[in-house]
Amino acid sequence: MEEAINIITSYMESATTDEYDEIAKTIRHDLVLTDRSKNIKKYLQYIPNTSDICRACEGSYPAQAVLVSLNTGDSYSLDLFERGIEPENYQGSTQLTFGYDEISQSSIHISKSPGENQGSAEIEHGNSIVSIHRMKSLFCDHCIEAMLEAVQDKPMTEIVILDTENALFYPVECGMELQIGDYKLKTDYQDTGYEISISPVTITK
Ligand SMILES: [Zn+2]
Repeated sequence: MEEAINIITSYMESATTDEYDEIAKTIRHDLVLTDRSKNIKKYLQYIPNTSDICRACEGSYPAQAVLVSLNTGDSYSLDLFERGIEPENYQGSTQLTFGYDEISQSSIHISKSPGENQGSAEIEHGNSIVSIHRMKSLFCDHCIEAMLEAVQDKPMTEIVILDTENALFYPVECGMELQIGDYKLKTDYQDTGYEISISPVTITK
């Protein structure tokens, strides 16, 4: 009971009046991370962790570089050639992947042409709302802290880039260049959102 009161108190304290009205209507009794309440991390301890298997550090991935949605736990491979598939099976094909998160209303479109050594992920920015309660049912506390750390003070809070080999999280951020495994990831901002271009590190353009 005391824990329940702490949760509700945390929730009330963490929102401004306007924000509270807005949030209370849609996500009652949920603790959310928004642009204006990034210091919410101190309330994490009051919410019990109900995840059986962490979707970030205990899953098996067909790729080293993936996008992870904080609200859904869904992951999206960025590697052009995924593990377990022979390169010749990719010849001439274009792979399309689509993802949507109804809490933040952000969407992901990934288009990869492995035979041409290119791919891109477009991320349409949502409202930046991240549900800490959802995260507590999807990820271990260690990963939750690491993900919130990565997106702290960043415009994009609902999706992170994960290096699955090294369990490292990176924000989706304009101008960011990363090398994860065999691929170089470069993030730019277009009219509707972020675009991550994917290219093999061995090929210089
Ligand atoms: Zn974890």
